[in-house]
Amino acid sequence: MNSIPNTRIILRNGKLLDVESGELLDGLEVFIQGDRIVSVRLQTESLPADVKVYDLAGLTLMPGLIDCHVHVLASHANLGINATQPNAIVMYRAMPILSAMLARGFTTVRDAGGADWALARSVALGLIPGPRIFASGKALSQTGGHGDFRARGEVLSSEPCSCCFRAGAIARVVDGVDNVRRAVREEIQQGASQIKIMASGGVASPTDPIANTQYSEAEIRAIVDEAAAANTYVMAHAYTPRAIRRAVACGVRTIEHGNLIDADTARYMREHGVFAVPTQVTYEVIADSPAAQAQLSSETLAKLEEVRLAGRAALVHLAEAGVEMGYGSDLLGESHEYQAHELKIRAELLGNHEALRSATTTAAKILQHEGKLGCIAPGAFADLLVVDGNPLEDISCLVGQGERLVLIIQNGCVVKDLLPAA
Ligand code: ZN
Ligand code: ZN
Repeated sequence: MNSIPNTRIILRNGKLLDVESGELLDGLEVFIQGDRIVSVRLQTESLPADVKVYDLAGLTLMPGLIDCHVHVLASHANLGINATQPNAIVMYRAMPILSAMLARGFTTVRDAGGADWALARSVALGLIPGPRIFASGKALSQTGGHGDFRARGEVLSSEPCSCCFRAGAIARVVDGVDNVRRAVREEIQQGASQIKIMASGGVASPTDPIANTQYSEAEIRAIVDEAAAANTYVMAHAYTPRAIRRAVACGVRTIEHGNLIDADTARYMREHGVFAVPTQVTYEVIADSPAAQAQLSSETLAKLEEVRLAGRAALVHLAEAGVEMGYGSDLLGESHEYQAHELKIRAELLGNHEALRSATTTAAKILQHEGKLGCIAPGAFADLLVVDGNPLEDISCLVGQGERLVLIIQNGCVVKDLLPAA
């Protein structure tokens, strides 16, 4: 993703997929200048000079996809081991993860713990190919919480454990109202776009049952307060109705996973205008992969099965309550290749149109970039996909490794082009 390209592009003759209305529109052309879409207009006969024209006859033009829950630095499925890898190895292993995301059509991601401003900036400068990153820095976890990968029997020090500061750590351990305030300020000073917290037990961590809540309400309120002061928001990892309800009551804006939610709690989220970011594919993929299971403990595998089975019902509860859902994949280690499979799961349960909205317009709302990302409109960033197929009828044209994407434009730069020369 190069800073701002000095190019003008016209895309014409294709069908334009309006992801908000779920319609395919004919007879329009999209004019791109630099990193932005300048106009979406009725196709004209006269073409301006110095413009690269792409003829999209028979193809579908749509906004680039957005994944609201990834860990681009999680190259190992065991997050405890991931955290202890040397920093340089973590970064080199992230590079193919990032470029593969872009190849699948994910032009933007929100990183839910691990990636920092420097990595986001490296992509923005064009140093490495990858999606535009909204980084959270280190997620905040209480002692014994989902971000605490110390085993039982390890000495717990009041000093931060050294692994928290390694590049491969997705979280840092911090307790107490004053300390969490400071941690939020540090993450924001370091360039986090939003703050991630662990508000309930998790699957991949060793000592925290799923049913536990994490952080006191006073701590969560302090975190939300500091994020709000910096004009940003808090995203919370939470599985159970109890954990979700208290996170929402304390002002958290997006609930991550939410697998064990019930209908009442889903309505409570809706009443508070809170977004959900389910990540069902991550559980389905590990359940299908003996290799991934071999890297996980028996405790982790038992937790995984519990949330996997409930996760499909959660998507239905959330949809019935009218909670807006962003796209999340949350894949780790070898599983990153299944990132686009969440589209298939969403389409099966909620329909193709809803699956597409989750990864475009709804995701853009979550990122507070409505009208700038996830849409084809004047003033939006020129993040566009040309698809061989119609995703409204056949979601499989977006599932896989981007095989059916014939053109990918990110920030106005052509990053993949399989179209025949005009
Ligand atoms: Zn999580
Ligand atoms: Zn996650």
